Amino acid sequence: MPNKIRRVAIVGGTHGNEWTGVYLVRKFQQSPQWVQRSTFETVTLLANPKAIELNQRYVDRDLNRCFGPVSLNNPELPGYEPDRAKSIAQQFNHDAASRVDVILDLHSTTANMGMTLLPTSQHPFNLQLMAHLSEQDPSVRVCLGLSSSQENPMLRSLVPFGCTIEVGAIAQGVLDAHWFQQTELMIHRILDYLEAINQEKTVTIPASFTAYQSIESIDYPRNELGELAAMIHPRLQGRDYQPLEPGDPMLGWGNHFLFRRCDRLSYFYQ
Ligand SMILES: [Zn+2]
Repeated sequence: MPNKIRRVAIVGGTHGNEWTGVYLVRKFQQSPQWVQRSTFETVTLLANPKAIELNQRYVDRDLNRCFGPVSLNNPELPGYEPDRAKSIAQQFNHDAASRVDVILDLHSTTANMGMTLLPTSQHPFNLQLMAHLSEQDPSVRVCLGLSSSQENPMLRSLVPFGCTIEVGAIAQGVLDAHWFQQTELMIHRILDYLEAINQEKTVTIPASFTAYQSIESIDYPRNELGELAAMIHPRLQGRDYQPLEPGDPMLGWGNHFLFRRCDRLSYFYQ
């Protein structure tokens, strides 16, 4: 467990067209007192300014895949995002005095994921935070990644503690007041929790909580030209986190729908 949280980073715009995080960070930069607490420093960052300006996910490559050691240690790697990743890593991990302990990376998605938290790792400190937040709001979903090795390149993995906050469904390049407020509320809950831990106050941590484990990702069927050959079945569209039963329709094309067994398919299960 960390002795004490000293610095927390709130990051928006890792993907430039996800405006919830971009505008929350701008709000906090205009009024930094709202995210300050007495026992630690809070810093804010717009991770990919060029992509934000262009309202694009990224310019040259996905920034959230540029934080693996191979990428960070390769000075020859061309492109804007590899340079940004090195600069962010330097800013958050440079030396003991400036090191960030917790990263909250703000994202939004067109998928109907509601309020989903993806912890940086399954370290007990992160899991206790997830349990606490799940108890405060039972609609929160905690999603554990495929595996730590596949998660390593992400921005949140620069430091040991924290999470990605992913909200949706929101169209890209759109501000949605409901999810903006929910994300802001979640940030305040997390900062309050960290403050309470630093102050050694009693916080409620339930003995167990529900987490979703990603099994695998599968691509859509494609034709010989690489074009999509199917779409999500209308009965499944938007039903994130719902169980897939054997024989449930999953993919379709016009009136021809594919029926696949669920044990071959990805998706989340409880
Ligand atoms: Zn994103």
